[in-house]
Amino acid sequence: SKFDELRLHSAIEANIRYCNYTKPTPVQKYSLPIIYEQRDLMACAQTGSGKTAAFLIPILNGILNSDRHEPGYVYGNNNKKRFLPKAVILAPTRELAVQIFDEAKKFSYKSRIKPCVVYGGADTRGQIRDLDYGCDILVATPGRLNALLDRGIIALSNVRYLVLDEADRMLDMGFEPQIRNIVEKRDMPRVGQRQTMMFSATFPKEIQHLARDFLDNYIFLTV
Ligand code: AMP
Repeated sequence: SKFDELRLHSAIEANIRYCNYTKPTPVQKYSLPIIYEQRDLMACAQTGSGKTAAFLIPILNGILNSDRHEPGYVYGNNNKKRFLPKAVILAPTRELAVQIFDEAKKFSYKSRIKPCVVYGGADTRGQIRDLDYGCDILVATPGRLNALLDRGIIALSNVRYLVLDEADRMLDMGFEPQIRNIVEKRDMPRVGQRQTMMFSATFPKEIQHLARDFLDNYIFLTV
């Protein structure tokens, strides 16, 4: 099959063509039910499999086709902006977060969707300033996202898509409490109210537990 047979939103179709992707990779092909049936997904996929596009395309397609018009921010009690991403993508490292952000920029080019990225070990003020350009799709490392949630700069009430990328690596790095804190936040839409996709190279017990806790009636995919 080819991308232009998938009846994706025309803006994404154009951007996929612009990236010179002609054929979906296996993880992209087999994850299509998450677009058409809004299913949750647990995918065992390595870097290089095309997993980034496998979750970005359904997210962008879903947001562009949605007639829900939600504001990108509200004013908090201190009269400061509180940003309301529609998609949150958690990644273990700054390098991976920036890679995902770069791919999200390519796929959202000339559309109304704005991606943004926040990660630790860098100045927070500049990242907050950048949120102001739009943060429909927020790519984040878990620690920095928690810091911004604690400060009320980001709220999760509009999240419709949640991705855990390289989940096994995030657990190896000790991020499980940080991840649980984010997913279990009071304003995070519950299982069934959001679409959740987990990607992991391996599927040990710890990842199975996260899948049980975070996913609903999910498709399991190994590529
Ligand atoms: P990833 O596994 O997401 O890190 O992607 C690995 C590489 O494959 C990246 O450089 C992508 O730009 C590229 N890629 C992803 N999907 C496709 C596709 N359908 N056709 C050609 N290249 C792709």
